[in-house]
Amino acid sequence: MPTKYVVILGSLMSGLGKGVVTASILKTLDFYGYNAIPIKFDGYLNYDCGTMNPYRHGEVFVLDDKGEVDMDFGIYERFLNKNMTSDLSITGGKLFGSIINKERRGEFLGTDVQIIPHLTNEAISKIKEVEEKRKPDVIIIEVGGTVGDIENSYFIEAVRQLAIKESAVFINLTYAPKMDVVGEQKTKPAQLGFRMLLQAGIQPNFVICRSKDLLKKNTIEKLALFSNISDDKVIDDSDLNSMYLLPLHFINQNFDKMLINELKLEQKSIDNKKLDNWKEKLRILEKPDKEVTIGVVGKYTELKDAYASINESFVHSGISNNTKVNIKWIEATDIEEKGTDTLKELDGVLVPGGFGKRGIEGMIQAIKYSRENKVPYLGICLGMQLMAVEYARNVCGLSEANSIEFNKNTKNPIITLMESQKNIYNLGGTMRLGEWRCLLTQGTKTHSAYNNKIISERHRHRYEFNNEYRKLLEEHGLQVAGTTEDNGLIEFIEWKDQFGVGTQAHPELKSRLEEPAPIFVAFVNSALEFSTTKNKN
Ligand code: GLN
Repeated sequence: MPTKYVVILGSLMSGLGKGVVTASILKTLDFYGYNAIPIKFDGYLNYDCGTMNPYRHGEVFVLDDKGEVDMDFGIYERFLNKNMTSDLSITGGKLFGSIINKERRGEFLGTDVQIIPHLTNEAISKIKEVEEKRKPDVIIIEVGGTVGDIENSYFIEAVRQLAIKESAVFINLTYAPKMDVVGEQKTKPAQLGFRMLLQAGIQPNFVICRSKDLLKKNTIEKLALFSNISDDKVIDDSDLNSMYLLPLHFINQNFDKMLINELKLEQKSIDNKKLDNWKEKLRILEKPDKEVTIGVVGKYTELKDAYASINESFVHSGISNNTKVNIKWIEATDIEEKGTDTLKELDGVLVPGGFGKRGIEGMIQAIKYSRENKVPYLGICLGMQLMAVEYARNVCGLSEANSIEFNKNTKNPIITLMESQKNIYNLGGTMRLGEWRCLLTQGTKTHSAYNNKIISERHRHRYEFNNEYRKLLEEHGLQVAGTTEDNGLIEFIEWKDQFGVGTQAHPELKSRLEEPAPIFVAFVNSALEFSTTKNKN
């Protein structure tokens, strides 16, 4: 059967959760055993997300194949439990880049190169490339931005054209706000959104509507009337306790069956085992037996999106420990100003990845506090580098130890620039990126967490542990728990006799609801133990 298309377009405003809707539709189709894959279009002119600031754009998500992509890819992977690839990420930058390259090569000789048909054809051919390579049952195209934006207008035109030849279902994600005083769900903004969509030549087959409360009957009727569809094709997407509930919420509304019919897919029945497994996770999520509080000491803590994967890893690893993990976001600079008092009530401390000098000393203080008070600690990337710096300073007595990222002239460069990074001048896509295999040391906490000798995790960094200091730190009790297979680069370090693990990798990027990151599971487990002993004393 030829590949079918679903196109998801958002109206009115960003932040309605298109990524979660896309992931939930993917998951719903996956419950039936259809091979459904996403394509995400982002209109910005950056080639990828790698050079963007997490404050502006949320976390940069990294794939096995080194792709630095939009954080929605993290949502797809967490739901689907499958690895995504960078060809599924189409950006304005990639499209314009290849059009300009083609023009310079003379591929358009004699013509003036235009948005339509050249750029739109380029978009369509990128989509078709994915189809031809993978031959999936369904491709779900999530169009970033909002209908009416200049940035995505040519892409919307491209999917309109695509749908002339292919069988495609359009879904409009919209919003019905409720004014507190009047208490009524308003549909006028959504109606204006429909008008814009129709103006672009697109008739939605379904409307999914975000709202605070369940959609009222007359809200549904109005949305249906103004979008030319029947009432049952208006799907409720009101606030849920967890985003992972959305596939089930869709199924409860029969959206799965309607979509399968609309796409004229070969009829299949749902895999109840898969579905029950998903439901069981959510049952624990809604009513966990235990509770811990973990402090995340970082520098983008005001914007939770900057640490989306860490947040989700705690949801996943919490479920497998039957535990609710409360996260306390702590600005590292606050520790610099006010000291470590805020860490006292915590059952665990995590220092996440990051770039730049701000807050570094606060993070080091938090690590020292954790080590001295035996608070379970997990250091991720920068958090591992600073764990090594703290150890060098306070255990090995190298008081000036630092990473050369923060002090180029430090006497003791515990963290140094990787050999492979020394002659790099282009910043986009040049870090140590993507999947790397790692050899774990038997008898370490990391090894028992993974229960495996060879593992693989994703990376995104320029600096590394300086092997000239390895012997000294080991002599002072720091345990090397994992290295690259050739033993060249240190990947995991540990404190002895207490849970303190630092990793150069980003295990949070591979954590999924159905397969939580092992090191997070072990960390939450030791936070639980710590909280029990703390409460006993
Ligand atoms: N800034 C550090 C480096 O580039 C850490 C990066 C990170 O935490 N992702 O090595």
